[in-house]
Amino acid sequence: MSRPFLLIYKASMKFEILTIFPEVIECYINEGIIGKALSKGLAEVKIYNLRDFTSDKHRKVDDYPYGGGVGMVMQIEPFYNAIQYIKRDGNQRKVILLSPQGRKFTQRIAQEFLSGSDVLMFICGRYEGIDERIKSFIDEEISIGDYILSGGELAALVIIDSVLRLIPGALGDELSVKEESFMGSVLDYPNYTRPEDFRGLRVPEILLSGDHKKIALWRKKEALTKTFKRRPDLLKNLSKEDMKILKELCSEINIKILEEMHEPVNN
Ligand code: SAM
Repeated sequence: MSRPFLLIYKASMKFEILTIFPEVIECYINEGIIGKALSKGLAEVKIYNLRDFTSDKHRKVDDYPYGGGVGMVMQIEPFYNAIQYIKRDGNQRKVILLSPQGRKFTQRIAQEFLSGSDVLMFICGRYEGIDERIKSFIDEEISIGDYILSGGELAALVIIDSVLRLIPGALGDELSVKEESFMGSVLDYPNYTRPEDFRGLRVPEILLSGDHKKIALWRKKEALTKTFKRRPDLLKNLSKEDMKILKELCSEINIKILEEMHEPVNN
């Protein structure tokens, strides 16, 4: 059996972001699908400026590292003050520290977040990161990949975007969520739109045939082939039907792979 798509009903979700760059978040969340979901009331995003929780007149949030070394470290106190302030409402929430050292974010974790707490709070670091003692005040560390960003803001937006599009109603068409890459065990099938012929590159004839059964089978085969070639690690828990199609495709795919390996190199 392929993994079932979990259509979790959640009327709305609340995202809270603690950052020294609120404008970065603002300019993204008001556009596109997030912007629409927010105006429909499917989600709420609250941005907190960390500098509002400092106690010195310069609104300083960083200091030199104990023990020496390069760069600056974000101080624990403004984060602690902000978290305590935000938690005054008594709501149950998950506090997430964005960090390259955390659990690596995936579509599965997006689904897990959607089905968990109604409120997700994101702590965005900058500079060399945050004083290690922040760990006492968070629930989880999440990384969006094995690379270093300058700050947690992009990571927070990546997570918010992917969780929010899973909220029923956010995309307008629930099917588009179900068919996306990583929602099951296969990558998405190839998509085409007008024109039919672009400089000799034609849309596959089958998609113009109007035969919906054949189109569905073609798409399934394309998706399975692509996944087999690019991400065989995803092909777990396939349905019996998908497994049968994949087995039938196997020799064809292997021939294609061999052909690609032996394509003449044009210098
Ligand atoms: N010195 C830290 C290290 O090597 O682990 C990196 C600090 S990074 C320059 C500054 C901040 O960006 C981090 O505190 C974190 O909030 C965010 N960040 C950087 N890369 C990230 C990633 N891959 N996933 C999530 N957050 C990341």
